Amino acid sequence: MRDKYDIVIVGAGPAGSTTARFAAAAGASVLMLEKDRDIGIPVRCAEGASEAGLRAVLENIDERWIDNRISEVFFHSPGEKMVELKFKQVGYILNRKLFDYDLAQMAVRAGVEVLTKAYVFDLLREDDKIAGIRFSHMGKTFDVKSRLVVGADGVESRVGRWAGIKTRTKMGDIETCAQYTVHDLNLADNHLHLFFSSKIAPEGYLWIFPKGDGRANIGLGISGDAAAKKAPVSYLDEFMAERYPHASILNSVAGGVPCDRTLETIVLDGLMLVGDAAHQCNPITGGGIAPALIAGKIAGQVAGRAIAEGDVSAKSMQDYPRRWHKAEGRNHQIFYRLKNYIYKLTDDELEGIAEAALHVPVAKRSLVTLFRAALVKKPSLILDAVKVFT
Ligand SMILES: Cc1cc2nc3c(=O)[nH]c(=O)nc-3n(C[C@H](O)[C@H](O)[C@H](O)COP(=O)(O)OP(=O)(O)OC[C@H]3O[C@@H](n4cnc5c(N)ncnc54)[C@H](O)[C@@H]3O)c2cc1C
Repeated sequence: MRDKYDIVIVGAGPAGSTTARFAAAAGASVLMLEKDRDIGIPVRCAEGASEAGLRAVLENIDERWIDNRISEVFFHSPGEKMVELKFKQVGYILNRKLFDYDLAQMAVRAGVEVLTKAYVFDLLREDDKIAGIRFSHMGKTFDVKSRLVVGADGVESRVGRWAGIKTRTKMGDIETCAQYTVHDLNLADNHLHLFFSSKIAPEGYLWIFPKGDGRANIGLGISGDAAAKKAPVSYLDEFMAERYPHASILNSVAGGVPCDRTLETIVLDGLMLVGDAAHQCNPITGGGIAPALIAGKIAGQVAGRAIAEGDVSAKSMQDYPRRWHKAEGRNHQIFYRLKNYIYKLTDDELEGIAEAALHVPVAKRSLVTLFRAALVKKPSLILDAVKVFT
């Protein structure tokens, strides 16, 4: 490890590894630091991603990353109506341990240096400018200088805050999650199940994502406001006790997802934020893998160019937020409006939507037909739904 790089990246999740890879490919010297011992572990994710989302960035999709393929989703209403919807594209349940590890390896192949067990705890400044990071590794403290620091440090991100960016989110916009990976379930392998009900997952939803061979990720995300009244894991335990009392729990996870719009500021002089750290998750689904890849590719390309041109000012890196908003960020604003409406629906309203959707033949059902039924009382949002789902 040197004491100076063009770019230091904090966090080796999908956002960090992808930014690192594209910046290095553009000729920058890059160091990526990860606080955990292993890249990809622990997995705090239900591991669902669409093929199209991955293909937006990854040229090849390795079969080893795919635990299972999904072709249909069943929406469950509070009164147990089941609305079936066939996917237009293939959905994957990934093996994120392998996926995240391989993304980091792609970065290494592009020339990135990686260090794990490296906990970044401060920014360095010179003449009031961001000039690198300070981290601890095996009980020692190290300073590394860089022209650019990238905060890809996930939902618990602190890099942005250290730099003075307002990163606060309303409690209600942090989906608080609990999940078990379970074994011995008798489930169709190619179907997702999503449950909407104030009793099961208030202001959120519960998911069953089958991983094949009788395994599944069963979890739920509820708004921070709802979680303040009752812990997500209590809702999950009640669901498990009622539906799968004999399932073996192989792994349990707790975590948050910033289901908000992208932060207003994601670049400063000498600094970028990417992925969950920049609140780039899809606010309605909480899906952040594909957005992290898409943002990471753009950020890496812009960072690489900024280094090559010798100008890492916020002004010269505006291409990153501009391209991000064109690619995803603007849609996320729409998803955010839809989320605020959908997650506040009462159980009776949800029941009515399921009833209406069941009148549409399965072959003609789409997310737009579902949202049309959901938004009858809010027609101004129907156009929004059409924009993002067609
Ligand atoms: C329960 C749950 C289920 C989810 N399910 C899905 C799903 O099915 N599909 C989907 O698309 N998304 C899902 N998500 C969201 C998804 O996991 C994230 O959006 C995605 O991982 C974001 O990638 P990232 O690289 O920005 O952050 P992360 O993957 O969180 O990576 C950040 C990395 O930074 C490291 N780090 C943090 N601080 C420091 C520090 N100070 N120094 C060094 N390293 C640091 C962390 O250890 C971590 O490895 C889920 C999230 C949760 C909590």
